[in-house]
Amino acid sequence: MVENGHVWYGSTLAELAEATKTSAGGSNATFTEEQLREVIETYNSYVENQNDPEFNKEVLAGAIDIEAIENNPDVGFVLSPRKSSLHHTMGGIVINTEAEVLDDSGNVIEGLWAAGEVTGGIHAGNRLGGNAIADIFVFGQIAGKSAAASK
Ligand SMILES: Cc1cc2nc3c(=O)[nH]c(=O)nc-3n(C[C@H](O)[C@H](O)[C@H](O)COP(=O)(O)OP(=O)(O)OC[C@H]3O[C@@H](n4cnc5c(N)ncnc54)[C@H](O)[C@@H]3O)c2cc1C
Repeated sequence: MVENGHVWYGSTLAELAEATKTSAGGSNATFTEEQLREVIETYNSYVENQNDPEFNKEVLAGAIDIEAIENNPDVGFVLSPRKSSLHHTMGGIVINTEAEVLDDSGNVIEGLWAAGEVTGGIHAGNRLGGNAIADIFVFGQIAGKSAAASK
């Protein structure tokens, strides 16, 4: 990942700060050693207090021991640039088992079918990884057959 330019690496925070002067993962952000230290120390305080007022992260395990990392030649710091993207939507149009679209009152809207990611409720509160593809093939076929069978 380091060699391919996807992440920044440093055996010390100073080295890591130096590495961020290059592009990684398409990001050109540059951080100083002080900024990196501050963000780690802030995170460590959240772990110690078991309270993250910034992001409301609930699993706060493993404070980062800067000194221990800098003194161990076998380990170092890795910084991975991130950006948000949409993977799957959990909400959308309500359909019945024939893939007919329902209105707010639960009545069928004649002549309208839907399947796949525009529909909501199929996967309940959370989608199991991989099930979107099963969803589109199963309900896509049902919607097609249902539409073809209509007058
Ligand atoms: C990076 C990524 C990885 C994923 N990996 C998996 C996985 O491993 N397993 C899994 O099950 N699911 C995975 N998913 C989710 C899954 O791919 C989607 O839920 C699924 O492809 C949705 O299919 P769909 O046919 O409902 O919608 P889409 O595939 O979004 O199809 C909608 C189509 O409608 C077209 N369209 C939009 N507006 C109009 C318009 N006005 N007129 C005409 N056409 C229009 C769009 O161009 C598009 O082709 C992944 C999603 C992403 C983003």
